[in-house]
Amino acid sequence: MESPPPVDMEKLAKYPFLKKAREYVSSLKLNLAGIAGHPLYSASINMGKDRVDQAMRGRIDAKLGDKLSCELSVMSYVIARILVNHTGARQLVWRYASAEAENSYLFLRDEKNRETVQEVMEDLGVKVAEGRMHFKDFLTLSVNLAKQDPKWKLVNRRMDKGYVSVEEPEVLILVRESIRLKVLEPVDTKNIPDELKALSREIAAAYIKKPLDVKLDQVKEETIPPCVKAMLASLEAGIISHNERFILATYFIGRGLDLECLVKVFSRFPNFNEEKTRYQLAFLIGEKSATKYSCPTCAKVKSYGLCKAECGIKHPLNYRG
Ligand code: SF4
Repeated sequence: MESPPPVDMEKLAKYPFLKKAREYVSSLKLNLAGIAGHPLYSASINMGKDRVDQAMRGRIDAKLGDKLSCELSVMSYVIARILVNHTGARQLVWRYASAEAENSYLFLRDEKNRETVQEVMEDLGVKVAEGRMHFKDFLTLSVNLAKQDPKWKLVNRRMDKGYVSVEEPEVLILVRESIRLKVLEPVDTKNIPDELKALSREIAAAYIKKPLDVKLDQVKEETIPPCVKAMLASLEAGIISHNERFILATYFIGRGLDLECLVKVFSRFPNFNEEKTRYQLAFLIGEKSATKYSCPTCAKVKSYGLCKAECGIKHPLNYRG
């Protein structure tokens, strides 16, 4: 009988979302309790927690190296997904998935072997032929990109018989989005061992932000319009666009928040830089320029594709819940 082909563990460590990586972990025939009690693989549990911590700081440093390091790295991905999903906090899962997608994207960008890139794309179901992608696939993968940059909007693309042109460097960016969606898929965390539950609680305590802690007498949560709530979620997830930042800041300026309170709102951004944020907000308030900027109208918010409901008003500042 033919023996199975050798497993390329380094490839699985770089792209742990691949079906082959899942099959490899299954082939070890260990449940979570078995991993926790294993003399070698138990290290993957703390590595999984480290992986989440790194992701929350914005950059995963996946350990490659010998076969065991790569195996542990793949298993740490499995553990990390369980830990972050068990928190039940969608914004943490989003931040984690974004960091995983970026990690694999950087490996893909440096990949010498084009066949590996092709294999990853096939595994994810990303189909690009002769620089063209079906518009439905493009829409699914570009929805978040379009929030950051209008060039990803379908209306700004050349379309021919249902296919959208995509340039070579854009393909990997779409692959990154596809990885993010893959990692965002829910994970069943019922019946996980107590050790993992405790680690997940630590993650929740460290990274779940408390409800909006700004002068609540001034801004009752129910008086914030759906579009601004969505922008706050984008801010927390670390994927806020320039337009969203502007609207968020000017909305809260319009609600009468002072600079200190505004900085507090923006401190919810994962890579918050206080000095830079303070300077930009002071500029919008009019402390650093002659102009005080005002919040755009609903029509303008709609034109950016950021309106989230028909509230029957003309200006987000008129929303009363
Ligand atoms: S109608 Fe106006 S306030 Fe309501 S979600 Fe849309 S832009 Fe925001």
